[in-house]
Amino acid sequence: MGRPHHGELSPGVDPVALQGALTWARERYERCDVCATDCKVNRHAGELGHCRLGVQGRVYKEYLHLGEERSLVPSHAIYLAGCNLRCVFCSDWGPVVHPERHGAELTPEALAQRVAKRLLEGARNVNFVGGLPDVNVLYILETLAHCPPDTHVVWNTNLWTTEEAIDRLTGVVGTWLADLKFGSDRCAKRLAGVDGYTERLHRLLPLAARSGELLVRHLLMPGHLECCTRPALEWLRQNVPEATVNLMTAYHPFALKSSRGPMSGSVEPQELKESLALFESLDFPNAMIDGEPVHGTAPGL
Ligand code: SF4
Repeated sequence: MGRPHHGELSPGVDPVALQGALTWARERYERCDVCATDCKVNRHAGELGHCRLGVQGRVYKEYLHLGEERSLVPSHAIYLAGCNLRCVFCSDWGPVVHPERHGAELTPEALAQRVAKRLLEGARNVNFVGGLPDVNVLYILETLAHCPPDTHVVWNTNLWTTEEAIDRLTGVVGTWLADLKFGSDRCAKRLAGVDGYTERLHRLLPLAARSGELLVRHLLMPGHLECCTRPALEWLRQNVPEATVNLMTAYHPFALKSSRGPMSGSVEPQELKESLALFESLDFPNAMIDGEPVHGTAPGL
């Protein structure tokens, strides 16, 4: 499958890659290690790992999204319950922590019909989000088996996953829409509860760049310019220069809003100014701020 050129999204799903990925995911759910959490539970037998998901996905929202990155819209966003991180500033805490209480089980066939309908309405792609697609991988692949073959798949992920998963999804995923949230392991541990964050993300982001189109989001967080934003952006510029990088400035504390502490506020104007200056100084070939291309050269324009 060829890489996309600027101004277009790559072709759809390679049927051979899809069949291989389906076989892989079905097998791996028996001792689940399809994401970095590596729970080793048998999801076919109803055992629950950290994501608390069975085999069937739970869809809690789906619509034609006009607010994603300019190069992706209109995008058919499908929100699947369940995740493997517990970010304190999460926007969808309920569906993440208690997937069984949110949304409804839709069969893969029914979801594929919804995808076909949204494509007719003008969607340029199907965008699996959540929650997280990685922990719903088998359900998504079973859905794609019933979708039009030219469907472009956007994988909206925290990239808390494995080399093997990226490899198996190559030819299925067209665009990796990945977060690089933290620039330090200390912040990743404190804010999302995981160890070894930077080593894993630094290993996987170049693989995602080789696997398909890569669009990386970095969300500014209050008080995290030096520990997270600066090292994350500098690493991206040096190591995956082909990626489109979207700096997101609209931090919102969501569940933390009524609490106290640095993460319950917003990014101060001075910190925003310094972050934007840093971003500009790094001169990314394909840069976005809040989803809008900076130089007018980002893919899809
Ligand atoms: S997908 Fe869920 S059960 Fe499987 S390893 Fe990840 S968190 Fe654990």
